[in-house]
Amino acid sequence: MERLDPHPVTGEPLPSPVPPGAGWPGDPAGPAPRGAPPPARGGRLAASAPAPPALRARTGGCRPCPRLVRWREDVARTGRRAAFADQPYWGRPGPSFGDPDAEVLLVGLAPAANGTNRTGRMFTGDSSGDFLWAALHRTGFAAQPTSVAAGDGQALSGLRIVAAVRCAPPANKPTPPERACCAPWLERDLELAAPRLRAVLCLGSIGWDAALGAARSLGWDVPRPKPRFGHAVEVPLGLPDGRSVRLVGCYHVSPHNTFTRRLTPEMLDDVLLGLRG
Ligand code: SF4
Repeated sequence: MERLDPHPVTGEPLPSPVPPGAGWPGDPAGPAPRGAPPPARGGRLAASAPAPPALRARTGGCRPCPRLVRWREDVARTGRRAAFADQPYWGRPGPSFGDPDAEVLLVGLAPAANGTNRTGRMFTGDSSGDFLWAALHRTGFAAQPTSVAAGDGQALSGLRIVAAVRCAPPANKPTPPERACCAPWLERDLELAAPRLRAVLCLGSIGWDAALGAARSLGWDVPRPKPRFGHAVEVPLGLPDGRSVRLVGCYHVSPHNTFTRRLTPEMLDDVLLGLRG
């Protein structure tokens, strides 16, 4: 029989992985209607989403990458970290999180198996997220200095967090075909944000490459030769309407960078403050 665990904030009993509409706090997806066809490929689901909330909701039904679907759901069912063994895991693609009218998009790499894949919120439930949320709060983007679990009251203003790949990959390493398969979600995020978009902040080179690829696919004017990723490197992306969007690089907030002080809180604050309107 399926095991039910209490959600850490609401106490509501929930299964792992959490099916759409099962009661997860803030779950943008409703339950699939009885007899509904299986979810389409990510590309078609993404391309027809009319607005960021619909795009968010549709992410949860995406399944075309067999290795990633198996990994995210296996971790949720039987591979939980011991410290979280009594918690339900989201076990679905990580939906974007933040202001639907954001002027800044923050592009991460992919959910962590015991972070976003557990909590259902980007950069939530691991040390990378702890570092990022503290900075987002110091610089005025986040309502709270921590993000612990869906339903904890956290909110973003002026910024939305998305990812190059939406499912947790083994060893945090999505394959090139998996990155290509997930690209339509980021393309649609950029396209829907475009009317208000001022800047795209990329954490790490994979987010940088994914954002450049998405911009190119949308027909935006991308500098040639391809600009190289670097911390605080900035290049302009030209939109079809003549406006320009800033593409800004930042070292990823992974423990590998923050524990070694390759990326310090001051460095991240400087980049974030430079994005404020
Ligand atoms: S990685 Fe992206 S395209 Fe692949 S199943 Fe997950 S959400 Fe869908």
